[in-house]
Amino acid sequence: MKEDIIQLSIPTPFAVGDVYAYVLKGEAVTLVDCGPMTEEAEHAFVTQLKEHRLSIDDIDQVVLTHHHADHVGLLNLMKPHVRVIGHQLNEPYISQDPVFKQRQVDFMIPFFQQLGVPLRQNECEKMVKQSYTYSCTSHVDEIIKEGDRLSGHEHFFVMETPGHAQSHLSFLDERTGNFIGGDLLLTTISSNPLMEAPDEGEERQKSLLQYKASLNRLLRLPIKTIYPGHGQLITSHHELIEERFKKQEKRANTMYQLLKQKEMTAFHLCRKLFPVMYEEALFLTMSETVGQLDVLLEAGRIEEMQKDGIVYYRAN
Ligand SMILES: [Zn+2]
Repeated sequence: MKEDIIQLSIPTPFAVGDVYAYVLKGEAVTLVDCGPMTEEAEHAFVTQLKEHRLSIDDIDQVVLTHHHADHVGLLNLMKPHVRVIGHQLNEPYISQDPVFKQRQVDFMIPFFQQLGVPLRQNECEKMVKQSYTYSCTSHVDEIIKEGDRLSGHEHFFVMETPGHAQSHLSFLDERTGNFIGGDLLLTTISSNPLMEAPDEGEERQKSLLQYKASLNRLLRLPIKTIYPGHGQLITSHHELIEERFKKQEKRANTMYQLLKQKEMTAFHLCRKLFPVMYEEALFLTMSETVGQLDVLLEAGRIEEMQKDGIVYYRAN
């Protein structure tokens, strides 16, 4: 049986615009992602379900591509019997675990200090708190990982595709080449690799390196159509990935040239790269900067050194 994929377009209060949730009708009625927790989103969600002769009561399970608020907030609307399925790293975010929130702050304060960002403790706390504004309080009932199959839709193969989020999963229907990609690859914007607090005692993940590996993996898969989290459906993902790689290379080269002129902190670089955006979108732009620095370090093109607890980078 060919799997029906129903696309629901849900408004978000974010610059990215609408987010898509998908309904899969197979042996189970499955919702993939569900939009932010706002009244507008709730209204759009319920109305569009109705247009497809469905209601919230028909949903058996929700599968998450990742933990960001615009993908999980409406979990709050789900009935208690609805199973939430996803990567285990969704759990502390979607449950809003207070211990984890504190860990995020405890990670961010010294890390940003090292990067030369003049942020006070209360500003870090505010930034962490803000990321939960449109999120939910829920739990992961069923943990899935690389190589698993979606229950109720056994031809969907589960892939771990980290980078944009550590919890990021994608789902490939091997029979049709349909690929539910979350925020892995979008037509409208290049999706950002984001910094995340590591597990206790672990090193920070290098999210841009992970992200590039995830995109490279897509090039080797028999994908026909990508059903993304935002923007248009993607039918020529090779071209789009090439474009993304080129843009990243250009940015890495710009940074390298800047570091050839003089050594700088990550924050200094961030202001040079994103002079207009950095204040408004500090976490996003710093994530991008740190990601590119990781790439340049890995390639041996730059080196880092510490002075008085602050890290400086220079070109080799
Ligand atoms: Zn996202």
